[in-house]
Amino acid sequence: MTEQFAFPTRAIHAGQEFDPTTGAVVPPIYMTSTFVQDGIGGFRGGYEYNRGGNPTRDSLQELLASLEGGLKAFSFASGLAGEDTLLRSVLKPGDHIVMGNDVYGGTHRLVSRVFIPWGVSLSTVNMSDLDAVRAAIRPDSTKVLWIETPSNPLMKISDIAALVEIAKQTGILVVVDNTFASPYLQQPLSLGADVVVHSTTKYLGGHSDVLGGAVIVNSEELAEKVGFLQFGVGAVSGAMDAWLTVRGIKTLAVRVDRHSSNAQSIAERLVGHPKLDAVYYPGLPDHPGHDIAARQMKAFGGMISVAVKGGVGPAKRFAESMELFQLAESLGGVESLVCYPSDMTHASVRGTDLEVPENVVRLSVGIEDVGDLTADVLGALDRL
Ligand SMILES: *Cc1c(COP(=O)(O)O)cnc(C)c1O
Repeated sequence: MTEQFAFPTRAIHAGQEFDPTTGAVVPPIYMTSTFVQDGIGGFRGGYEYNRGGNPTRDSLQELLASLEGGLKAFSFASGLAGEDTLLRSVLKPGDHIVMGNDVYGGTHRLVSRVFIPWGVSLSTVNMSDLDAVRAAIRPDSTKVLWIETPSNPLMKISDIAALVEIAKQTGILVVVDNTFASPYLQQPLSLGADVVVHSTTKYLGGHSDVLGGAVIVNSEELAEKVGFLQFGVGAVSGAMDAWLTVRGIKTLAVRVDRHSSNAQSIAERLVGHPKLDAVYYPGLPDHPGHDIAARQMKAFGGMISVAVKGGVGPAKRFAESMELFQLAESLGGVESLVCYPSDMTHASVRGTDLEVPENVVRLSVGIEDVGDLTADVLGALDRL
């Protein structure tokens, strides 16, 4: 869709033309594994077999490319399936990858347990420290710089444009995991990154009802490589999953506005709370990444982490004792969730330098009434 329209308009219309045969406003879900040919090789609209292409998946991919300002998007069965396909497209044994020392635990597990045995090497660094990033780069072998900002769960902010400048000096591919911000708040390709990855399971889907991933690229060469492996490896999203994700994305702008204002309000209320040692939210003026976040993000998103006074016991009790914030992994849905990263999302990085402190609790602030949510959090803290 032409880029003349603003983000909220594109979120509803890009790749979503009405059905030409019936006029159905919402394009149909193409639940089919294969497509009839008009004579051998006579494909209708280029469609042959579902792993290679499906109109419902194509409509999601067109939408994602438009929202991230990318050349082409590829949709996958999960965020990790997309990451795996991307890394296989750009790495070979002997190559080196530099990633943040607080990336999503599953991303670290994918690289350390699947790619390292294959012959790739990994360095993890504090991505907010540009000198540390420069020092970790090996000019001969570093091929990928992997950035996640805001990071999970400590909400650290990395300066995408500054990291791009460092990486470009030696031709390193810059990948940004944009899951926490969503394309509504942050557009890494416009800051010079080469690739954006998403777990569409989170804000893009937005309703905690579908798993999915996406890889959005800005060059024909990369599109060719990722497109080949999407088909050749086959971790594609099914039609129903793609359709649910499209349905979620239509309201992304209004949802993320509300997620952000709710989280900002709750974070401000929690600052200085006697039961907390720290509040990690980039929208707070004393957050170390606040200025960079204010520059590269439209608002500060719906994720807050807190460090609970007294360590593991009170932290777990806090996580287990709220009513509206339900204890579950994942994030980015309309309903508020709470997670205890050390034992849940980040259990796989225990004992590595990505280990999450045992007093940290992560909140995915939903779009319920902010008064109800605030009362839920404060009540649970009072009972500690
Ligand atoms: C959830 C998540 C992933 C992995 O995505 P799945 O859809 O669960 O495979 C990757 N990165 C981040 C930041 C995530 O939150």
